[in-house]
Amino acid sequence: MTSIWRGLAIAALALLAGTLAGCLGPRLTAPAQPDQGLVSFGWDTRTLSEAAHFIVTGQVVRQESVLQTTSLGDRIVTTVELKVSENLKGNSPETVVVQHLGGRVGDLVMWVSHEPRFRVGENVVLFLSPAEDGPLAVCGGFRGKLTVMGDRVAELGLSLTDFAHRLSLALSGRDPGPDPAFVPLEEGSLSLMGEPLAYRYEEIRWPQVQPVVPYRINGQASWLGPIQAASGTWNSVGSKLTFQYAGTTTTPAGFRDGLNVIEAIRSYGATGWPAQATVWYRTTSTGGDILECDIALNLYYRWATNGTSTALDIQSLVTHELGHWLMLRDLYRTQEAEMTMYGLVTNGETKKRTLEEPDRRGMLDIYGPR
Ligand SMILES: [Zn+2]
Repeated sequence: MTSIWRGLAIAALALLAGTLAGCLGPRLTAPAQPDQGLVSFGWDTRTLSEAAHFIVTGQVVRQESVLQTTSLGDRIVTTVELKVSENLKGNSPETVVVQHLGGRVGDLVMWVSHEPRFRVGENVVLFLSPAEDGPLAVCGGFRGKLTVMGDRVAELGLSLTDFAHRLSLALSGRDPGPDPAFVPLEEGSLSLMGEPLAYRYEEIRWPQVQPVVPYRINGQASWLGPIQAASGTWNSVGSKLTFQYAGTTTTPAGFRDGLNVIEAIRSYGATGWPAQATVWYRTTSTGGDILECDIALNLYYRWATNGTSTALDIQSLVTHELGHWLMLRDLYRTQEAEMTMYGLVTNGETKKRTLEEPDRRGMLDIYGPR
């Protein structure tokens, strides 16, 4: 048994007992670029453990969302405070503060796809790195946060002992093999409609009877065609909602500024997400009314329009992100891998360009046929 493995076993026990265990000391390494040949939306334990400056277990003790007004528009940022039980990598403070985009202030919500979400009181394992602008951020978006329930790591369906063993292999430079499927915990009162194939939706929609959603593109000229093809794919479903191309813009994504923007002009770094949708909505008694949406493509990753095996496909990814503008949620079950709303992607993959029956049915159920 290596010392790391012993430490991890102690960590598992500490979590169970709710006590504090010893620290493993710093093992800082430079962040690694995720293996684009595998999964780009979600990193695996090995890649995460290489990229993270800190891996900690602990309990969420505080969470606060703030509406920030900037010259580019409003945005909501959530600060999460974690009381650390155990350092699994690095030597973090006893309390760590993590920030992520999105959150709720009053009845206004900024929902951001592929970001982690927290609840006060929950026990978690976090893979953390300093964000470019200072505070710690969760590596790999939602994928770098694991929820500990009893003696299980919920999203991976593993016992803490099994997870600790996999992590110890990864931290000692050995390959623990592929992770079990990562299935995020459901958010709120999520509907899962139809079996075995389904779409996921939570009663948050454009409130108009026949919504027309105009969007502008902030990106290079050769990408305008594939992006419009993606919106045309959803329009061809025949629901009452229509996406409408409204020209180009120099406005960034991710801010509430009155425009629905698809931005593809800058790198957001090794965040773990190649593409991210933002949806602003006001909560209602039944769900929410959508106000505005954006999409950002992360040029840290390689992109192409022709399905080449070494890059992400623009049309395919934008079709997926436009599904989030309908508030269709990501799917992660293996039988859902062919669907446009499947939440993982690989280089060269173009299958999200075309909708599967549950994707279409989701849009038709929400907005009704034309
Ligand atoms: Zn998604």
